[in-house]
Amino acid sequence: MSKIYPIFCGITVWRPELCTKRLFLYDNVSVRVLVVEDDKAIATSLILGLQSAGMTVTHVATGAQAIAATDFDVMLLDIGLPDLDGFEVCRQVRLTSRVPIIMLTARADEIDRVFGLETGADDYVAKPFGLRELVARIRAVTRRITPQDSAISTTTVIGDLTVDSATRRVTVAGAEIELTTKEFDLLEYLTNEPGVVHRRNEILETVWDTEWYGPTKTLDAHVAALRKKLGHPDWITAVRGVGFRFEINS
Ligand code: CA
Repeated sequence: MSKIYPIFCGITVWRPELCTKRLFLYDNVSVRVLVVEDDKAIATSLILGLQSAGMTVTHVATGAQAIAATDFDVMLLDIGLPDLDGFEVCRQVRLTSRVPIIMLTARADEIDRVFGLETGADDYVAKPFGLRELVARIRAVTRRITPQDSAISTTTVIGDLTVDSATRRVTVAGAEIELTTKEFDLLEYLTNEPGVVHRRNEILETVWDTEWYGPTKTLDAHVAALRKKLGHPDWITAVRGVGFRFEINS
């Protein structure tokens, strides 16, 4: 089963030691994630991945346990559960709670997506999904419940470069750099894992659209713009036939 969810099985190199950013609700308080998933392999991958991103994870395998659960900040909810389906769990949780819910679905057609949202879910992720995408969505839904966005620890510092995901501000040696939305998204993505080579398709799917299959000139244009604006063309290296790597060698 687990091999159809390749993201946690090697195609994305998740190297926490290279990542200076961790997801915290507010100062040093990690996000508490309730994983509701009956597939052991998927649950294990999720738990390990989310823990590597600095989150505290609790796991249950049934809808009834999910409804009874307390003390968590966001629920990752599988739809196919042994007792109640995820939609019903979502409905019942919503009777008493506004806690953010992200549905994990293998049924990615539009009807189910809308249904998932109408049921009261805050977001959904279609399997197979990437850890980065999932973390980004958790960050987005938990940001809404934090007391102040400015209190979230979302700043990545690499050498002279500072990327603040909460305020979407970028500075180089203290000087603010004006970036477009997509330029920022691309920089944020590349700097999330400094030194790691990101494949072109992976970048396009994450930064632009998960189902984006157009020409890749857009990516090259944005890389060129970033190099120019940052004033350090060597920070983003093109790896021929693969993709791009962000690295500051001081
Ligand atoms: Ca399931």
